Amino acid sequence: MPRSLPCLLSLLALTAPAALAAPRKKGSKTLRWPVPNPAFDRPDFVPSSDRRQISGIFGPRLKWGSARYDHHEGFDFYAYFDPAHPRGDHDVFAVLPGVVSEVIAPSNPERTETGNKVVIAHEVPWSAFGAPAEWGKVITGYLHLSRIAVRKGQTVRAGEVVGTAGATGYTSTVHLHFNAYRASGRLVNVNPARLFSPKRFPRAVARLDKRSLDVDWIERDRASGTALIRVLLPYNAYTLDGFAVVVGKDASRAVSFEYVSANLRDRRDTGDRGLFPGLRLFPLRYNGGGAIDRVNARNQPAGWPAARYPVPMGKGVRLGFDILATDLPPDAKRIKLVVFGVLGEKITLKAPGWRHLRGA
Ligand SMILES: [Zn+2]
Repeated sequence: MPRSLPCLLSLLALTAPAALAAPRKKGSKTLRWPVPNPAFDRPDFVPSSDRRQISGIFGPRLKWGSARYDHHEGFDFYAYFDPAHPRGDHDVFAVLPGVVSEVIAPSNPERTETGNKVVIAHEVPWSAFGAPAEWGKVITGYLHLSRIAVRKGQTVRAGEVVGTAGATGYTSTVHLHFNAYRASGRLVNVNPARLFSPKRFPRAVARLDKRSLDVDWIERDRASGTALIRVLLPYNAYTLDGFAVVVGKDASRAVSFEYVSANLRDRRDTGDRGLFPGLRLFPLRYNGGGAIDRVNARNQPAGWPAARYPVPMGKGVRLGFDILATDLPPDAKRIKLVVFGVLGEKITLKAPGWRHLRGA
């Protein structure tokens, strides 16, 4: 037996399980943006409100009409950026290699929520993207397609065309709604920013960063036991997962968007009231990523904090939320805000004082 064999065997024994658990580096590098965007490949690309890549992110957003709150469980990839495709009818690409596990092509797609839909099961595990190993392999979904280009059971490469962006199902505009799932009995939606991270797409995706947070400590009302904080973030802070208002050592007032998807599915669109004890959340952006300024318009939901404290004009390109902590003890002093993201970001901010102080 050659002397090197035992060494080779032990090396194999060491590396084989790791190789099974983690994807080849090459595989994870092949992650594709699912809708082509010429701006995205330019070195001088600087995201701005009119050059944004994603028009709807994961989490709660304000809804048009009488409903106030819509828990959006994926990303909407903007499709109207390319003069060569004035109708937004872009090819939609598989983001990773995999096998088509589901094709939904209803005879009347307009009458279904998802419209024409393709689901792909990938070989790459979530652990390759920093998520828990028990999440299994990455699964992705492509909704509202105008045309489907694959069939169930088909193997696809990263970047292979699975269909054409469309507006089938419950939507009024051509775009790609993209879902990322973990399998755990049923498919559970998770934030696609776990894939489309600042690390992999540094020009298009912003890191959650203390310096880019615009926090307004609006009102502390001792009589009603409330504190109102407004947070504006860069519009492409896609990794945002939620907030906690920490009172002394009490961190129970917290909202996680992924938690809502996983555990409060039946209540996710009924509004923020009672979803999380001691905390209410008022999104300041409409479906489609409309400007925050528009929440100051006539259809501002009655009773929302922004009705009393309008969002200043000029803040419209950003993501925004009003966070209302309730049931605060009258003598609560040390109030902190924690902003956290799905990639483990955690930014803690202390109230420097309140713009309005009410009650004794
Ligand atoms: Zn959507």
